[in-house]
Parts: sequence; C-alpha cells; structure tokens
Amino acid sequence: MAKRFSTGRIKTHRVYTVWEVSDVLGCHRQTVIRWIKHGGLIADTSSKPWLIEGRDLKAFLGARQTKARCKLALHHCYCLGCKAPQEPDGKIADYVQQTPVSGRLMGLCPSCGTLMNKVVRRADLEAIRAKIEVTVQKANPRLVSRVDPPSNVTLEQEAKPHGKAQQG
Ligand SMILES: [Zn+2]
Repeated sequence: MAKRFSTGRIKTHRVYTVWEVSDVLGCHRQTVIRWIKHGGLIADTSSKPWLIEGRDLKAFLGARQTKARCKLALHHCYCLGCKAPQEPDGKIADYVQQTPVSGRLMGLCPSCGTLMNKVVRRADLEAIRAKIEVTVQKANPRLVSRVDPPSNVTLEQEAKPHGKAQQG
C-alpha cells in the first residue's frame, strides 16, 4: 500500500528543490527523485538543483492517492477542489508538452471550475483524444523564468543601522 502524504504544507505557487520536497513530505529524497524519473512528477531538470512546482507536486500526490483507490481514466483529471476525478468541462483540454515523452493535460473542472492538470504520457495522447478534444500547445517557458536564486546567495539584509555611533 502506497504511503499517503499530506499535501497541506505544500504551497501551490512555490518552487521546491528535491531536498525541500523531501523535507516538507517527510520522505527520502531518493523517493522524490524516483517520482521525477519514473513516476511522472513534473520537474525542471534542465539545471541543478532540480525544481518542482508546488502545484505539480500537489497534483501528482493527489493523482497518486486517487490511483491507490481507483484507477483514474486517461481523460479524467484529479480535481483538487472536489478531491475527485473529473472529466474536463465541455470535454475540452489542453496538452502542454513538458518532456519529449510526457506533458501536462489541463482542463476545467465541470463542477467547481478549478483548473485541473495531470501528467500524461505522449503515447497516451491519442487515446485521450478519442474521448475528449485536446489542443496541443508548445512547451511553456514559465518554469525557466521563475527559477529561484541559487541557494548559496544570502538574501538577508543587514538590519543594523549603518550610521556610526555618535560620540559626544
Ligand atoms: Zn472540482
């Protein structure tokens, strides 16, 4: 039985390193690396450190836990709002290529309007397109432009006032 991880401490709009993910979830970093390499967790691995978006991590863990209970249909996404699998509203979804073999399927939840997304294999795209209408988009450079500053750069500012002590 797959271990359940709480997604409560994951911030959707934060970008995490592998170390930070393992820290937040309390799992081994090798587990996180395995998810990225073999499990379909989206990460920017074009440079070190690897970066994972909070929302990708949440979606990955949500889908993983759903998968443990019931199989998510290829053309269904896990809605974080409903906490249930949903078919994209209007049977319309976007596919954004992320790696040569996988990408992100995105659609709106028909119940609550939440933007849902999940990682799908490029090879599964045709099967998904048989069920719903999928618009294929080019890779989004968003991650590249949001890379955090290197962790060895200290951003702390000197709090002490700069002026010299006034001596009578
Ligand atoms: Zn929903």
